[in-house]
Amino acid sequence: LGLLLLSFIIFSIVIGLLYYSIKSLISQKKIADIKTDFVNNITHELKTPLATLTLATKMLQKDEIKQQPQLVDNTVNTIERQNKRLQKLIDQVLSNSLGYKEIQLNRESVNIEAYLNTVLDDFQLSITSNDITLNRKFYISKKTINIDKFYTTTALLNILENAVKYAGESIVVDCTVESNSELKIAIKDNGIGIFDKDKKHVFDKFFRAGNKEIHNVKGLGLGLYYTNQIIKAHNGNIAVESKEGKGTTFILTIPFN
Ligand code: ADP
Repeated sequence: LGLLLLSFIIFSIVIGLLYYSIKSLISQKKIADIKTDFVNNITHELKTPLATLTLATKMLQKDEIKQQPQLVDNTVNTIERQNKRLQKLIDQVLSNSLGYKEIQLNRESVNIEAYLNTVLDDFQLSITSNDITLNRKFYISKKTINIDKFYTTTALLNILENAVKYAGESIVVDCTVESNSELKIAIKDNGIGIFDKDKKHVFDKFFRAGNKEIHNVKGLGLGLYYTNQIIKAHNGNIAVESKEGKGTTFILTIPFN
């Protein structure tokens, strides 16, 4: 009986060791996959704006372009947009190791309606497709809010750009004041939506949802993580509502003080 017990214990130990080494191999493979995806995606994300910048600079050097002020203006705008894109990308990658407590806000009093209109006008200019509509519904009973303009703009653009990336054709930005104490901005799209099981993970670092359509869309899985850090730094909150195949709404709330 003693021998039987001993062989059972040895057998259990061997099975246990086997289980843990397989589990660790699988998680190492997962980490390796995340690393490969990250390198592939970041290469793509860097190459696209850099290629556009190279083209735009070459255009500006051509004599026939120099005679056409409208073309020069358009090309300079393109350069500015691609610069912003690179800046945002670098910020996101750097922020990867930062928590929201490390984000140093530079708050200022901002006229809510004027500020939102500027962000949305800029965003609208960057949309190249004619099939996308952007509607604004503002019911704002307060004039100003103390926010960091640079960071808040990054957060809003991340959500707006995702709405387009994930096949939204109609985007609605709804802005209201809740209980006189917080600003609520809801950004709604009618794109591919997010599976129920994925919703709770969209703000996790490197998370990309499992929809089939998503494999055609490049991304780092860092945008919403960073957006969440920014909103938290403002003592605010971000929530997501979504129905697969129907669309997604991101709701940001930022307290007035
Ligand atoms: P990514 O670089 O992959 O876009 P994000 O952090 O911005 O990273 O978003 C994380 C994931 O959340 C995306 O990969 C996508 O699966 C999902 N997601 C974000 N926004 C939307 C949206 N508007 N519609 C559908 N899925 C979305």
